Amino acid sequence: MTERNYTIQQIAEQLNIESFQVNYDTFISTLLIDSRSVVSPESSLFFAINAQRNGHEFIADAYANGIRSFVISDNAYAALYSDANFLLVPNVQAALQQLAAIHRSKFNLDVIAITGSNGKTVVKEWLYQLLAADYNIVRSPKSFNSQLGVPLSVWQISTEHTLGIFEAGISKKEEMAGLAAIIQPGTGILTNIREAHAEGFSSPKEKLLEKLKLFKDVKLFIYSPDYTAGIATRELPGERRFSWSTTMKADLEILFVEPIKGRNYIRARYKNEEIECLIPFSDGASVENGIICWATLLAMGYTPEEADLRLEKLTAVNMRLTLKNGINQCSVIDDSYSADISSLAIALDFLRLQNQHVMKTLILSDLYETGKSDKDLYTEIAALLKQKQVSRLIGIGEHISAYAGLFELESSFYPNTQAFIQDFPAIHFNNETILVKGARLFEFERISKLLTQKIHDTVMEIDLNALANNLRFYKSKVKPGVKVMAMVKAFSYGSGSFEIANLLQYQKVDYLAVAYADEGIALRKAGITMPVMVMSPEPSAFEAIVKYKLEPELYNMDILTAFIDFLPDTQFSYPVHLKIDTGMHRLGFEELDLPDLLPILRLEEKIRVISVFSHLAASEDEKHDDFTAYQIERLLAMTEKIRPELGYDFIRHISNTSAITRHPEAQLDMVRIGIGLYGFDSGLNGKSGLQTVAVLKTTITQIKHVGPLETVGYGRRGILPEGGTTATVKIGYADGYRRSFGNGVGKMLVNGKPAPTIGAIAMDMCMLDITGIDAKTGDEVIVFNNELTIADLAEQIGTIPYEILTNISQRVKRVYFYE
Ligand SMILES: *Cc1c(COP(=O)(O)O)cnc(C)c1O
Repeated sequence: MTERNYTIQQIAEQLNIESFQVNYDTFISTLLIDSRSVVSPESSLFFAINAQRNGHEFIADAYANGIRSFVISDNAYAALYSDANFLLVPNVQAALQQLAAIHRSKFNLDVIAITGSNGKTVVKEWLYQLLAADYNIVRSPKSFNSQLGVPLSVWQISTEHTLGIFEAGISKKEEMAGLAAIIQPGTGILTNIREAHAEGFSSPKEKLLEKLKLFKDVKLFIYSPDYTAGIATRELPGERRFSWSTTMKADLEILFVEPIKGRNYIRARYKNEEIECLIPFSDGASVENGIICWATLLAMGYTPEEADLRLEKLTAVNMRLTLKNGINQCSVIDDSYSADISSLAIALDFLRLQNQHVMKTLILSDLYETGKSDKDLYTEIAALLKQKQVSRLIGIGEHISAYAGLFELESSFYPNTQAFIQDFPAIHFNNETILVKGARLFEFERISKLLTQKIHDTVMEIDLNALANNLRFYKSKVKPGVKVMAMVKAFSYGSGSFEIANLLQYQKVDYLAVAYADEGIALRKAGITMPVMVMSPEPSAFEAIVKYKLEPELYNMDILTAFIDFLPDTQFSYPVHLKIDTGMHRLGFEELDLPDLLPILRLEEKIRVISVFSHLAASEDEKHDDFTAYQIERLLAMTEKIRPELGYDFIRHISNTSAITRHPEAQLDMVRIGIGLYGFDSGLNGKSGLQTVAVLKTTITQIKHVGPLETVGYGRRGILPEGGTTATVKIGYADGYRRSFGNGVGKMLVNGKPAPTIGAIAMDMCMLDITGIDAKTGDEVIVFNNELTIADLAEQIGTIPYEILTNISQRVKRVYFYE
């Protein structure tokens, strides 16, 4: 038995079931919590988890995707689908965890559990690289380490596995014991403890003790005393312990770390001897993660020589999918680092979410999926490709080629990467989205390099998961039934166009809004089908607006009558939105327009008013709360006058980002989220749960040593009185890095250290004072990220985050990440 083979009956017997409705018995191999990521619906069991949203609301979606087995806590849903299986439990999340724990108990393989503040995923992936030669390893996918991620990870264990490596993370007290019961580790690794996730704990010691609960019953515990201060060694877990330290005596006592040519050479004392290793990375975090892996290999009994040999070959861990612009109007999704069936399903979902090209091509290598015969594996993949609507397959490798006959779509095969590259000039790629997914060994990064445009050294990285997180954050603050309009004007506040809209459409927001018709047209051309409101519909664009089914915002009598006159007499009920001015004094109908407006609304059948809305002038500011209340009141008063004339219902909305949390009473029927999606909300103070979406990076093109009497840049404004070192970086005011950042006003991060600008900002580049900072040509420089934020930059030059973001010019390439 290599599969996770339980019948629904058996699962029902194992769980604490209150009642169940089993219509037919079926084997369950997959546990699902997201109704969208379905691979094999017949053998999937859907858990309706109530998190930010009620998981039961997704049962309909899951059912439509073919799923027929559900674990629920609200029995009302069972009645809706009489042909499906329903297990009713008191707590769905607890049932998922319980099932995983039972499954885990059936196997007695070695299991390593990893926890700590940082580095869990990298250490897990590196241990996988280091140990794959000796074990058949099952591990957490990506960074699945939560109350839901851990059970889903552990569920993958099957008989052929000889080692499990799972990570566990907690955000609250009392969570770890549950994860320990699911993972049941024999070896524990504590990576480190930092303040980063201190929330919910009264002290670092309390947090540490909570984390250590994961290791309560381990035989071997690997840790650094640098992170366990305050706890006596005998109180630490583990029948056996293995310590490492850079500051004190330990089993692996680090003597020194020396950077050489982008790598780090490390010397340590171990069993009274000096040993060494080479970590093929230059950054500090990689050194620590490397030492943790080193300690683990030694603790497991590998010789120092063998450990060194293996560590030298570590490769970067990249769990993210990257979406880039490709050659011949293609979009390229680069996932050339890992290949197993669960990550393939995730990548195919991301491929399917792209609407900008009809044609979708997958370039796939052999997969090294353990425990399945090639025939079963490629049969499953063939079914997956069909289900995810891939249009073309290019298979690379002997194994996938051998099963060419299984694939029903357009396909071609190559024995290896080199053969494909040789043939590349003859292969036709045009106007399609291409997913490049290959096992490490196949070096598919060579293929993505051929397919993508060369990226100029200044790039803005957009984290689509962070954007989805921010959307979830606001959805959780919005009352049930309230709709969401996402503001994607001005290239989604500078962050992109269809790339962002595709995600928002997939996340099922109700409306998009753009400023001008051409932005809306671009979205339609990229396959966005959801409703789009245009806020400044110029008469010259009416024709395009109607052609592309965009919905104009009408804000005064002139534009209203012009639009009605434009519509042909045969038109009936064209969707429009009415903007009311309640105090912003920008655009919108006012009270005094009503005598003209109301008769038209009463009689005109060519249009249908979908929504009536207004915009708040200062929702983020407590000082103006009375004014905000007044604006809300005025909108409501106006809608009451309009409603009887129309004789039908419409959506009322006035909330922008800051109003969602600060003025919940203003949510009405819909909210409009703008800057909050991109990670800012000046109405929220302190920790808000919002994540940084955009990171702007550039590179050093030259380093210079400047004497005390010399000057730097145009107008000779830059002076280093004591002399020093400057770095020229590839970003200037034409990229959106404003001139006002010059002469030390702005700072960038060079290898983690703040470096002020020196002299004037030029059009395409500027200079930084890097005196005392270790840097070389080609090093990456951060203009803004989650540490040096857009809000910091805004403050430096006396503007607001909106302007910083939207200023970044279109010539700066955007690269999108998705996990
Ligand atoms: C831009 C805009 C918003 C979004 O405002 P944020 O403060 O970014 O949330 C909402 N409504 C209208 C009419 C807008 O123009």
